[in-house]
Amino acid sequence: MISVIGAGPAGCYYASKEKGDVHIFEEHASVGNPIACTGILTDSVLQFTDIPKDLIISKINKFKMVAPNGKSLYVDLNKTNMVLHRAKFDQFVLQKALDNGAKLHLNEKFLGYRQNGTAYKLKTSKKTYDSEMIIGADGPHSAVAKAAGIYGKRKFVKGYQARCKVKDLEEGVTEVHLNLGEFSWVVPEDDKIARIGVIGVDDEKLKADYKKLIGNSEVLEDQSGIIPLYNPRQKIKKGNIFLLGDAATHVKASTYGGIIYGMIAGDYLAKNKGTFVSNINKKLSKDLWISLKMRNMMNAMNEKQANELIDIFEKKRNNKILSEYDRNFPSKFIVQLLMKEAKLWKLGFKIFANRALGK
Ligand SMILES: Cc1cc2nc3c(=O)[nH]c(=O)nc-3n(C[C@H](O)[C@H](O)[C@H](O)COP(=O)(O)OP(=O)(O)OC[C@H]3O[C@@H](n4cnc5c(N)ncnc54)[C@H](O)[C@@H]3O)c2cc1C
Repeated sequence: MISVIGAGPAGCYYASKEKGDVHIFEEHASVGNPIACTGILTDSVLQFTDIPKDLIISKINKFKMVAPNGKSLYVDLNKTNMVLHRAKFDQFVLQKALDNGAKLHLNEKFLGYRQNGTAYKLKTSKKTYDSEMIIGADGPHSAVAKAAGIYGKRKFVKGYQARCKVKDLEEGVTEVHLNLGEFSWVVPEDDKIARIGVIGVDDEKLKADYKKLIGNSEVLEDQSGIIPLYNPRQKIKKGNIFLLGDAATHVKASTYGGIIYGMIAGDYLAKNKGTFVSNINKKLSKDLWISLKMRNMMNAMNEKQANELIDIFEKKRNNKILSEYDRNFPSKFIVQLLMKEAKLWKLGFKIFANRALGK
């Protein structure tokens, strides 16, 4: 028996590919709820799964970046992004797992395990099971990672988000404000409703930024949640215990998306558990690491520099690079951008200098 803890996209995607006797344990009474996600994905998800039309709430074909001085810039996306119904998406991936023969245990919480040779006695809120493998796909505060002693020193950010009724929405355009939180967004579902959110270290400033972003909009549903910061030293395997998705801190820190990385890692694990760690190190860690460095840089940027960044991206050739790049894989575009734009080097240098001088 292979025990997958957590019926999120990482665990269910893995279970949809694994050939063994897979059991998925989910502590909630249903899969996909409560929602704590914007559900925006690039088309790189299509390498892993089809996305039925009824899962797609809207499509995004432009980003509008707003500088602290109010100046804004549009980036046309070469390939549209999809805004998904997150709960339905999770249930869709779960169905693929069930079609592959996985069994689902709802309302059953993982509590811990005891080593039994190379296998495990798995303890849940209902029973004890003999299990050869345990997959921790149980989100940011992974109980599996804790039980295995590989939780590490985790840091978290808070994502405040709500579905809101908004006036004057631009359909198909995601608005990103560079001076609110570490990262903030207004993602329209249609011309009246948007998912509005802001991410950062959970403090009074973040709460104030969130209030500012929501403004007079009517809040329909709170969808806030916690996101782990990628830890390059995070252990993701111990014996026959493996971590996937948020449980492994595999979230890109540049825009705090994690769905696709959980699916990629699930795919590697199902294909070959022996090469799982090396595949993650070779193929995923570089982009996660670059995203983390991009995030550190953006966090160190002052308002003047954020205004400068908009000016740099206003240039046609730089704007074109942004239009074409898939933000899940920054390693593919960052070199191009740095090679073409000396001003970015200068700006980066200024940001680091300011940080070093404590300005
Ligand atoms: C506000 C916000 C907006 C976001 N927007 C995006 C976005 O637009 N795009 C994107 O790609 N990512 C986004 N993310 C991140 C994304 O939601 C996560 O990266 C993704 O859900 C991780 O999937 P996962 O399967 O690893 O974990 P999860 O989706 O967290 O699933 C873990 C599952 O494990 C279950 N579980 C936990 N503990 C136990 C236990 N002890 N026993 C049994 N079950 C357990 C949980 O109930 C849950 O169902 C956002 C996050 C937030 C907070």
